[in-house]
Amino acid sequence: MNQPDPSNKTDRLTYVKVPKKISKMTDQEIDDWANQVFEHLMSGQSGNFFDYAKSKAEKVNMGMPVYSSDPEFFSSWSLGADHPTQGRRYSNVKIQFAEMAKSNNLEVVEIAPRTATHAELLRVHSARFVIQVTEKHIRFHSSDEDGAPAVLASAMVGATLQMLEILLAGKTLTAINFAGAKHHAQYDFPFGFCVFNDMAVAATIATADHGLRVAIFDIDAHHGDGTENLTLKNPDVLTYSVHQFGIFPGTGRVSDPANHAYNKALVAGDGDEKLAEASQEFLSLVAEFKPDLVFIAAGADGHVSDPLAGLAYTVEGYVECARALREALPTMPMLIGGAGGYQPDDFTPEIWAKFALQIALDAQASRTSSVGN
Ligand SMILES: [Zn+2]
Repeated sequence: MNQPDPSNKTDRLTYVKVPKKISKMTDQEIDDWANQVFEHLMSGQSGNFFDYAKSKAEKVNMGMPVYSSDPEFFSSWSLGADHPTQGRRYSNVKIQFAEMAKSNNLEVVEIAPRTATHAELLRVHSARFVIQVTEKHIRFHSSDEDGAPAVLASAMVGATLQMLEILLAGKTLTAINFAGAKHHAQYDFPFGFCVFNDMAVAATIATADHGLRVAIFDIDAHHGDGTENLTLKNPDVLTYSVHQFGIFPGTGRVSDPANHAYNKALVAGDGDEKLAEASQEFLSLVAEFKPDLVFIAAGADGHVSDPLAGLAYTVEGYVECARALREALPTMPMLIGGAGGYQPDDFTPEIWAKFALQIALDAQASRTSSVGN
């Protein structure tokens, strides 16, 4: 009988069958795991191989952290003292998310944001606009009298790109930029409290540079018009926005299936049932489109008491939406952006934290329970 060679990867993988559903582990993780199990076999130890393999795999999976761009970096983002957009919602979500993660034994790795390069911003924005913001520091919102919008707006994109890179490296299935999903930002002008469109930049890079397909699910109460416009002609990007029709920006009534752009227009008072319906519609589209990545614009302004919209989602409705998405797509790399939310001291950070937590925890649960199948 030929003796397997521990230094030979093929030999190791022949003797250590990697469970199917953890095939999304990085090469290094698989290698380390295979090495450990191989050594156990070669040492002639007694015991049940599958129990041993399972415990090793669980260790690998349970160690999978969630990555988050440090929200505190954006805490000074404000468009004026009386403006609905207040950066303290980012400080608050940082605290809430950390507490929830801790009590659920979920490791959070926070990454300090970087600014986006001009080349990155130019993937979806005009040169004139990029220069106006980053070099001439032109302020577009009449009330943004203080703060450093140029640096922060650029970092909102940089942070989303860092999260994309982490997902592409296979370090996690859930990466978050609570200050991301600036979905109204357009080609050559800022719109609706959004300067640069981070998810459109990330989707362009993922598709054009990495050959991947991206599906973007936008549950912010407002139509994700900028993201839709900037990715419309990209055949590898699907957008689905569920929003209240008749409020800002006034678009998003019809879908454009030929360009994979879908809209679900709701009316004031529509609640959790409609959000759940939208989740199922998005998931059916995903089943056909077969994306490699899902981005979620998790706007909290659909909450029943949000001052800027009239939808009637509850916190539980948001959590249920997250559960449905992760249950249907247990091994899908997901990038979450916070988008809007105008209850900075209570419901906005609570919804963001609970939504992201559900996505991250259910990814872990599905990976762990699949071992041995
Ligand atoms: Zn909104």
